[in-house]
Amino acid sequence: MTVDLDRRGFVLAAGGAIAASAMGSSALAQTPARKLGYAIVGLGGYGLGQIIPQFKNCEHSRLVALVSGDPAKAKRVAAQYGVPEKNIYSYESYDSIRDNPDIDIVYVCLPVSMHAEYTIRAAKAGKHVMCEKPMALSSKECEAMIAACRQAGKKLMIGYRCHFEPYNLEAIRRARAGEIGKLRYFRSEHGYTAGDPTAWRLKKAMSGGGSIMDIGIYALQAARYMTGEEPVAVYAKETTDRNDPRFREVEDMIEFQLEFPSGVIGSCMSMYSANRNQILLMGDKGRIELEPATNYTGQRMWVGKGRENEITPPPGPGKNQFAGQLDHLSQCIRENREPIVAGEEGLRDIRIIEAVYQSAREKRRIVLKA
Ligand code: NDP
Repeated sequence: MTVDLDRRGFVLAAGGAIAASAMGSSALAQTPARKLGYAIVGLGGYGLGQIIPQFKNCEHSRLVALVSGDPAKAKRVAAQYGVPEKNIYSYESYDSIRDNPDIDIVYVCLPVSMHAEYTIRAAKAGKHVMCEKPMALSSKECEAMIAACRQAGKKLMIGYRCHFEPYNLEAIRRARAGEIGKLRYFRSEHGYTAGDPTAWRLKKAMSGGGSIMDIGIYALQAARYMTGEEPVAVYAKETTDRNDPRFREVEDMIEFQLEFPSGVIGSCMSMYSANRNQILLMGDKGRIELEPATNYTGQRMWVGKGRENEITPPPGPGKNQFAGQLDHLSQCIRENREPIVAGEEGLRDIRIIEAVYQSAREKRRIVLKA
């Protein structure tokens, strides 16, 4: 399988999101159509806590089905959100979604180790897929997911919500417009304090790895969408206290440097033992800073020499980043377009993360394949 790592393709993709943002809803309102139906798979912190409440903000998407291992919870959530009981599935009955025409899209909100299986089963059931980040445990799994969706003729999108977040879009726009001159340096620190040592995120077989798979991936993604470039090499260093019961299986801190073709250096820090959420772009004429940068809400941004000039961006595509993301896939399906964050985008990150781990392990610079 070949993956297009073309820089222009990505810039155009990012521009697509900006264009959609500028277009707003007026052009789309001319084509009244049935809202596409989502089945949410996994009623946990993200699926239940963040995604399900967002359908009320969507113009092109609606919640129609639930997949859960907890029938009582599923029944309660179904009643709360008006999902008919016939549209509740378990992991065992999941494949019978193929007989349910209400369901257009399956949204996989499960532990990472289940992403590949539930994406591939959805594709085989004839459904489009939104899959949460990180895409899967390995690049091999990502490739199998892409192939399954392609074979079924179904779209695959990764839940990279920041591509629909107004502050991130505005930072991309200003950087591309040359407002800070020639970009020289990108820095991003992402972390939070992990708690329960028994959580799936801290079990390697379920998470695929530690902080970089979960939160550092935001820094990596941002390095790529902010620069509009693909890194050519990576150097990484891991610092983990293996006596800490949380970090017996996965890493805590991992810092990685990305070399971009233009000479821009990306410096990223990922942590499971400190709270941080920041992006900085340094150009030869100024800087753009976001803090917090990729949270659910509350972003702030400064453009100039320091923090004297705070910016409020124009609205993004959708009432918020979640609705923008959900509706983007619905619109792509309707208009037969590729999502701006298709499966290939998730695969690119996983390939780079694999190189980051290799670099930390072997204590050497790893050249990335184009
Ligand atoms: P949770 O642990 O809160 O929820 C996962 C859900 O998956 C569970 O509630 C359960 O749902 C289901 N599940 C099925 N089998 C298992 C199992 N063996 N162990 C644990 N859960 C199981 O995780 P999150 O909701 O926080 O994360 C889910 C996905 O969403 C991950 O891929 C994560 O990276 C991503 N995420 C993305 C975010 C973003 O901002 N884009 C933010 C947070 C998470 P049920 O009881 O219904 O079966």
